[in-house]
Amino acid sequence: MIDQATVNRIIDTADIVDVVSDFVSLKRRGANWVGLCPFHNDRTPSFYVSRSKGICKCFACGEGGSAVNFIMKHEQISYVEALRYLARKYHIEIQERELTDEEKMAQNKREALNILNEWACQFFEKQLHETTAGQEIGLSYFKDRGFTDEIIKRFRLGYSPEDRHALYNAALRAGHSRDLLFELGLCKDDGHGGGYDFYCGRVMFPIFNVAGTVIAFGGRTLKSTDRAKYFNSPESLVYDKSKSTMYGLYQAKRAITRENKCFIVEGYADVISMHQAGFENVIASSGTALTDGHIHLLNRFTQNVTELFDGDAAGVKAALRGVDMLLKAGMNVRVLLLPEGKDPDNFAQENSSTEMIDYIKANESDFITFKAQVLLSGAENDPIKRGQAITDVVKSIALIPNDIQRMVYVKECSAKFGISESVLARDIARQRQVILDEDYKQRQRERAQREAQQQLDDIPPAGQDIPPHPADQREPDRRGIAESNDVQAQERYVAKYIAKYGMCYMSDDEYDDGQRRPITVLEYIANELLADGMEFSHPVYKAIFNQSMSYLDAFYNDLEQKRAQLESGISAQVNEQMEHLDVDGLSADDIQQREQEITARVNADVVKQIDEFRKNYLERILCSTADDAVRQTATELVSERYHLSKIHTANAVVVTEYDRLSTIVEEAIFLWKSALVNEHIADLKEEMKHCDPSETAALLQRLQEQYAIRSALARLTGERVVNPK
Ligand SMILES: [Zn+2]
Repeated sequence: MIDQATVNRIIDTADIVDVVSDFVSLKRRGANWVGLCPFHNDRTPSFYVSRSKGICKCFACGEGGSAVNFIMKHEQISYVEALRYLARKYHIEIQERELTDEEKMAQNKREALNILNEWACQFFEKQLHETTAGQEIGLSYFKDRGFTDEIIKRFRLGYSPEDRHALYNAALRAGHSRDLLFELGLCKDDGHGGGYDFYCGRVMFPIFNVAGTVIAFGGRTLKSTDRAKYFNSPESLVYDKSKSTMYGLYQAKRAITRENKCFIVEGYADVISMHQAGFENVIASSGTALTDGHIHLLNRFTQNVTELFDGDAAGVKAALRGVDMLLKAGMNVRVLLLPEGKDPDNFAQENSSTEMIDYIKANESDFITFKAQVLLSGAENDPIKRGQAITDVVKSIALIPNDIQRMVYVKECSAKFGISESVLARDIARQRQVILDEDYKQRQRERAQREAQQQLDDIPPAGQDIPPHPADQREPDRRGIAESNDVQAQERYVAKYIAKYGMCYMSDDEYDDGQRRPITVLEYIANELLADGMEFSHPVYKAIFNQSMSYLDAFYNDLEQKRAQLESGISAQVNEQMEHLDVDGLSADDIQQREQEITARVNADVVKQIDEFRKNYLERILCSTADDAVRQTATELVSERYHLSKIHTANAVVVTEYDRLSTIVEEAIFLWKSALVNEHIADLKEEMKHCDPSETAALLQRLQEQYAIRSALARLTGERVVNPK
């Protein structure tokens, strides 16, 4: 349906960083970009994107691929639909012919639902802007609320006409299926083989997923006689209320990333009014209470959330529940109560944006202040209410996963309620234990379920041999490239260099801005794996790698602190040593010379301490981690002696493993790659023995390709082996 030239244009134009950024907030790291993986519940950034290679990859769960693969997986759509998505994004025109009936049938259902929702959205927009009723009823309602044309177009607001068959008939005429209209809740079955519109006479708020695809609608009545103010789409294959989206996220996500902060409000109109007032980082939980799924989604864009509430009792109760969920997810939560009788919608309309900013600055509070304010309002002197309020706040603090943050809140709570920190801390520790126990039990249950499933999956069908266990018990030995075909033995070396030297300086790497900056051994290895689509096959080595990767951010923070701390001490040390200098009989020049020597020595010492810090960083973590397999293997790996005997050069300088680090790491990666190639060659040879004669030529061709790769690798390895630095 899409010709090859267009496909090529789409693939060449799509920029992987740009494509992934629509869903994940990415930070630059080295030559790559990283963010939280959208495919699993990622706590530390494991999702790597390489612009130059055009691929992305999660080092924790393994998902990833090209821009097209990413979109297919993320949006759960087919290859062709992913290409269409990218074409829309980059304004590439696709000349499509009309679908045949068969093709329509074959189209994946999800795509059909997306197409129908998009069609309906356009239908409602046309009704709003191009019909008299739409303009007089729908558009004038939006204008009365103060919405501009621009904002109405941006949120693609619409109108569903009074005629109970307007959309139904138009959809059938356009070739859409009755069943899908019912499934999306756009129409209802009338029981006589026909149907009628669900939203007739309402103004329409389409709901988008993060990528901007219409997945549902909210329809607001304009009649005071209607009991339900809002009708919302039912859940469907494309719309899961608890996790598909939050209202406004598509329009807000860039602002959220830019400001690294997000406001949560209650209704659709609140979101739109706030956007119009210049606050674009505002979203709503679209008609349902905040769920873990929403928070997981939001967490990809920011950790700083402010909940905005009008002061009515129901709103506040929902707010308190939402706050606890956000705290538990490790978010930084702030709360803002609007003045009596105001909701975000009318508040945004009655105040200029500077007035709003001032109000927010002055009234945004942390959740303790908020809870105290709400729970104690009118009962400040009631000791029982006071006790309940404190218990309530303590429960919330106990939910916070970060120790330091918890301590900060304990201090604050202590000041606010006049209770000693140690009493509060004890109480919180007790609560925390309960929470951790529950979490642990929950995880155990999930794990037991997974394992039971795994065991079922692992039972081979009758008559089939159980494959041999991977040769991970064999003693690693370092053979020449042509013979090295033990992949896991090579993986072991790479894992060892990670455990021993992962955070040490490896080389400089070119960043996106063309600058070269230093990267660590670990990052170098990650880049190599990413470039060649490689993964550790051994589960423990893989775990060592993944755990190490999850510490990169923390490492860079700690390194900066360490460096700052050491450097700030330099002048004091130099001064101290200068004071002890015996200056008798020294000329001014001599003294200056001594000072320079001392400064150089102190500086060299700082460099050495930083090197030591880098060297010990991962070893300490990996050898004390709670994961038994990782801890044991890491301990073994770091205590292994340097296997190549120390090289004594002519002038008797001992060259250590650390001195040759970058060479050794490069070599280990090359040997691993060649082991993979050798394994592949062996497989192909084996296959050729048994294959159908018609397949021989193709296999031979693949074999030759592998030989070519092997000799290219061998040349590279050879060069590196004979030219140590
Ligand atoms: Zn992942």
